Amino acid sequence: MSRKIGIIGAMELEVETLIAAMTDKEKVDYAMRSFYIGKLEGVDVVLARCGIGKVNAAITVQMMVDKFGITDIINTGVAGSLNEKIDIGDIVLATNAVYHDMEAVAFGYERGQVPQMDVFDFKTSEELVEKAETACKKVNSDIKVFKGRIASGDQFIAGKDIKENIKMWFDPMCVEMEGCAMAHAAYVNGINCLIIRAISDKADDSAEMDYPTFEKKAAEHCAKMVLEMMRNL
Ligand code: SAH
Repeated sequence: MSRKIGIIGAMELEVETLIAAMTDKEKVDYAMRSFYIGKLEGVDVVLARCGIGKVNAAITVQMMVDKFGITDIINTGVAGSLNEKIDIGDIVLATNAVYHDMEAVAFGYERGQVPQMDVFDFKTSEELVEKAETACKKVNSDIKVFKGRIASGDQFIAGKDIKENIKMWFDPMCVEMEGCAMAHAAYVNGINCLIIRAISDKADDSAEMDYPTFEKKAAEHCAKMVLEMMRNL
């Protein structure tokens, strides 16, 4: 079966470069979002900006599966670093994703566990992580790439206390607001998932200041990397 890659960014900035690079492009509007169907470096893709947060992320993946038959989903975006070694501008490729705001410990579940779900974290595709790493080393050779856990939740993390708590609970590399919902949606649909996040801030008291300064640069790095990946799929 030939591949059709869904590519989702939460914000315009995260998808505009890729939409501009598409060929044979057709736009379909549905459920208050625009889907761009066409090719990127010859590969069939569906691209969309999903908006902020977990629900926006999950419904967009599901629509891409149901309406456009995607086989893989790639999420590109920015994130706050939760690890001292990972600096603004570096890139994190998720090997797995968790919800930092899922909590049903009253029923005996571990923090982060979705009740009645058969997995704790949502794994991404090893093949796609490997291809993304190779692509990044080629086009962004001056940028450090890390692989590991990403934590998602419906909260912009910009404070020491909440940052320290998320680190203690899950020890993730970075925090953002959509990735785990996409990995979850990919899991229940049996499709491959990749989450690429460039660090825009450090999820602490400086986050509100750093974020606007670095988000553009970070988004550009991700877009470059996705284009290179398409050439090698
Ligand atoms: N600038 C936007 C709001 C951005 S919310 C507006 O005004 O509309 C932050 C976005 O960047 C989310 O998509 C999230 O995934 C990511 N992000 C970057 N740093 C983050 C942090 N420290 N905590 C949570 N999400 C972060």
